[in-house]
Amino acid sequence: MRQTSLPTLGPVAAEARPAPALSVVVPAFDEAEVLPAFHRRLAAAMEGIGLAWEVVYVNDGSHDATLEVMLGLRAADPRVAVVNLSRNFGKEIALTAGLDHARGTEAVVVIDADLQDPPEVIPDLVAAWREGFDVVYAQRRVRHGEGVLKRATAAAFYRLMQRIGGRVRLPKDTGDFRLMSRRALDALLTLREQHRFMKGLFAWVGFPSRAVLYDRAPRAAGRTKWNWWKLWNLSLEGITSFTVAPLKVATYLGLVTAAIALVYGTVVVVKTLLFGNPVAGYPSLMTVMLFLGGVQLITLGIIGEYLGRVFNETKRRPLYLVERHLPSAAPSAAGGAGEHAVERAAEARVA
Ligand code: UDP
Ligand code: MG
Repeated sequence: MRQTSLPTLGPVAAEARPAPALSVVVPAFDEAEVLPAFHRRLAAAMEGIGLAWEVVYVNDGSHDATLEVMLGLRAADPRVAVVNLSRNFGKEIALTAGLDHARGTEAVVVIDADLQDPPEVIPDLVAAWREGFDVVYAQRRVRHGEGVLKRATAAAFYRLMQRIGGRVRLPKDTGDFRLMSRRALDALLTLREQHRFMKGLFAWVGFPSRAVLYDRAPRAAGRTKWNWWKLWNLSLEGITSFTVAPLKVATYLGLVTAAIALVYGTVVVVKTLLFGNPVAGYPSLMTVMLFLGGVQLITLGIIGEYLGRVFNETKRRPLYLVERHLPSAAPSAAGGAGEHAVERAAEARVA
């Protein structure tokens, strides 16, 4: 195992080796097919960065052999850590679990397992971080292998978030693929909400940030777990956890409707006074009633979206449960024991 440079961690106990400087966090759900290739490419890409690193694989309740593959990788490579969640919690939470278990003292990189985020970009992220940026996010130049419709909707979503986000800016065409300095990560980890729209949380944290452009590749193997319904829900999650602007829509809709009703009411009264009342009225009554009924239902729905989230937050459940945590054998720093499964430092050093 290569250790090119030691992180600056102060005095280290005689036989303990310091924690790695950089952690790569990889959430995976049914990625058995692609993980070995991913790990090979990751290890190759990390060759030249001159930092001690580990990779934290999070198994998000996969139905296939993902866990076995991870354990196999860990047996062969001491830089591999495995976090096995008790069930599928979804990407955003799996990612959080990985970040919680990342021991990198200097920085962490977040990357998808499906090779859509090329690991070869990591050295560029590291380079920008070395220039002094706390957050270096990878920004897509082109989306290969994604349909016109998906591209168009993704673009529309980013524009929308850009408009309603207020002070917090979501960088466009940016996924979760990014590098964060330890202090940015620590800040991020203080945000423990249940509804985790990670892109929004990343943006909220702030710190000096920079984009690095890359080309997004098509999935190497397996299928995307996203379907339109999930994407729609993710957008709802994004909007509702990011801004309360939709709640204001009701107010303005109400105001506009009330204003129109006032004008229309006046017209009706004046007309009746001038020309009497030739019955009728039924179509306009129905129209107004149905319209207002619709507006009220929509408004209730919007309030419901927020109320449901408030409900979930008040339960204060843990974000996830870990079935098993096997840290990387790159041993922890002085005093950083407590990780039962860490092999003795001496042992790991040999390889
Ligand atoms: N993922 C996960 N839990 C889930 C769904 C996805 O950990 O419930 C992981 C998945 O294994 C991959 C990453 O999140 O590493 C992105 O998922 P996917 O490629 O399906 O999403 P897309 O690239 O289409 O946005
Ligand atoms: Mg993907």
